[in-house]
Amino acid sequence: MNTGFEFTDGTTLPVGTMYGIGQNYAKHVKEMGGAVPTEPIVFIKPPAAYVADGGIVRLPDFSQNVHHEVELVVVIGKDCEKITVDNAREYIAGFAVGIDVTLRDLQAKAKEKGMPWAVAKGFATSAPVSKVVAINEIKDYSSFRLSLSVNGVIRQSASTGEMVRNVDMLIAYLSDVFTLRAGDCIFTGTPEGVGQIRKGDRILAELKGYADLNVRVE
Ligand code: MG
Repeated sequence: MNTGFEFTDGTTLPVGTMYGIGQNYAKHVKEMGGAVPTEPIVFIKPPAAYVADGGIVRLPDFSQNVHHEVELVVVIGKDCEKITVDNAREYIAGFAVGIDVTLRDLQAKAKEKGMPWAVAKGFATSAPVSKVVAINEIKDYSSFRLSLSVNGVIRQSASTGEMVRNVDMLIAYLSDVFTLRAGDCIFTGTPEGVGQIRKGDRILAELKGYADLNVRVE
């Protein structure tokens, strides 16, 4: 049983609501065949979807096409509502790397019919997250290097500086719409290079210089 987000200093924080942002990198929007959205695309994963470093992603039998999406994850440290971009920093507990595991076939069907993405994005084990690096250990959060490899082969590699909406903008937006609580987190969107994962795969996601996330697919 997971006790919550684990920080690199050994402290923990219970996992709250996990927000996800869709289509936040122009090159990924292009590979999915869409246009950069005028308003953020937001979805939610339940806390039970969380998987800690070293854990297992279980492929559900109701999907035939499960994709990896490597993402910068921001963990919120204090409750907040209606905060500005300029004040966003003080509500950040830290940063991690996560995988927004996605049932691409179910998501495509939901998109086509205008139905919600809850099953495609929020199924059990859909939210692996690395240990969290506290914000006071990070010099500059405007540009991290993110990468993901499957069985040792690099699939995704990008700078988070390429995000359409940056971390501060996302915190301001979500705190206005939903309010945010300590322990909530934001999956900030994936860069290009998403692809299928299969039983037996070993995935390594990296927030270069800060955190690694290893998961096994079953
Ligand atoms: Mg994603």
